[in-house]
Amino acid sequence: MKRSVLLLACLILIYGCARVPVTGRRQLSIVKNSTIIPASFDQYEQVKKESKLSDDEEQVALVKKVGHRIQTAVEKYMSENGWEDHLEGYDWEFNLIESDQVNAWAMPGGKVAFYTGILPICKDEQGIAVVMGHEVAHAVANHGRERISQQTGAQAGLTAISVALGAGGTSELSREAIMQGAGAATSLGILKFSRKHESEADHLGIIFMAIAGYDPKGAPVFWERMAEQSGGESPPEFVSTHPSHDTRISDLNKWMPEAMKYYKK
Ligand SMILES: [Zn+2]
Repeated sequence: MKRSVLLLACLILIYGCARVPVTGRRQLSIVKNSTIIPASFDQYEQVKKESKLSDDEEQVALVKKVGHRIQTAVEKYMSENGWEDHLEGYDWEFNLIESDQVNAWAMPGGKVAFYTGILPICKDEQGIAVVMGHEVAHAVANHGRERISQQTGAQAGLTAISVALGAGGTSELSREAIMQGAGAATSLGILKFSRKHESEADHLGIIFMAIAGYDPKGAPVFWERMAEQSGGESPPEFVSTHPSHDTRISDLNKWMPEAMKYYKK
């Protein structure tokens, strides 16, 4: 048993780790994007079918415009900085869903949705760019893959061990297990990210908006509006996966000098 655990640890080190662009954080990556992304696209189509897409042409166009502008800037940045393979299999899409919920989310492979309920807080293109940068960051940082890898890590690890030990016939079975893991995670509709992921998406988000030419100083201002609108009713940080507004704003201000360097370029 001890030897299997050691072997598993070695295999994860060799095959099961990836790095997040820009922050350089190491993350678990047992399940591959080639497995997750097709499942994610199916789920996104399902959500689109079951939701009412906004027919406000002006608002739809603005959300798509900001999305494509940030997408283009991020793709250029990635290919110029040695990450050219990182976005393989991505197919970006930005939709606006009719809903009072103050929310937006991203699925693996670049599928983003905004709810109309968040637009009054975004207020303008700059505010949309804050939320868009954050959502694009979740997708680029493969936060969904990391969650799914954590959930299915044990199963995938067992396969790796049996394959390494030369046991035949189990890989097909375990691939099924991985698919189930991915499906279970994405069928929740929207993956719940950890606070660490939320914070990393804030950090990358202001850099992504900056390289797309949007002033990152709009981010703390957006979160102040968000705090005002929730009227002090936001859940305390320890019961929420989201960082509190205060933590968020002070973190954003801490990262601002870094983001401003990208903005000025
Ligand atoms: Zn988020």
